[in-house]
Amino acid sequence: MTDTIGTTALVDWITRFRDAVVEKRDWLTELDSAIGDADHGSNMARGMTAVVEKLDGGAPATTDELLKSVGMTLVSSVGGASGPLYGTLFLRMGMAAGAVSELDAAGLAGALRAGLEGIVARGKAEAGDKTMFDAMSPAVDAFDAAIAGGADLASASRSAADAAAAGRDATLPLVARKGRASYLGERSAGHIDPGAASTAILFDTLAAAIAGSS
Ligand code: ADP
Ligand code: MG
Repeated sequence: MTDTIGTTALVDWITRFRDAVVEKRDWLTELDSAIGDADHGSNMARGMTAVVEKLDGGAPATTDELLKSVGMTLVSSVGGASGPLYGTLFLRMGMAAGAVSELDAAGLAGALRAGLEGIVARGKAEAGDKTMFDAMSPAVDAFDAAIAGGADLASASRSAADAAAAGRDATLPLVARKGRASYLGERSAGHIDPGAASTAILFDTLAAAIAGSS
């Protein structure tokens, strides 16, 4: 069996992510109401709904075009910080993926790493700033480590999802140094970062899509 993720499974990931952010919209907004402006759930639900509507009209056959389409729709449909940041993640993943119909483990690892680097280039977040980076960076590291240790895509993506969830939970005591939450200073401590929460959902749905396709 070849261990790859093709465009059908990528669309399944994107669709599962849409379903999950729509389902968890109120919770994500609640998290953002504590340290932001109470719109992260609606931002993510609106953006991902627009993404899946566009894909329903005909999904591109290559991984680069598919991921770039997701990114462009997010950038154009979400006004908050998360739209350009998630948009950049998918755009950079697409640029790294290339015009292929499927990605192997190294290809997906490279795309995720490029996406994370794009988020850093755009938002300048560092570890411990209490942002989506704090869930995404450990997830991408865990994915790489699993692949280097010989894991298949299913278990590497599950390791990444577990690391993202741990990273999300670890944002709770942090004082925000980037984004709207940083305006609160010390008062931002004691709350989970909403973007880290949606990032944990992103990796959980990736693992679910890969598990479902093998
Ligand atoms: P906004 O902050 O514009 O209302 P959202 O509420 O949709 O946008 O998204 C907020 C999330 O965006 C935060 O919880 C944080 O994870 C993420 N974020 C904000 N600024 C940055 C940044 N500079 N780098 C990385 N992530 C960021
Ligand atoms: Mg907000």
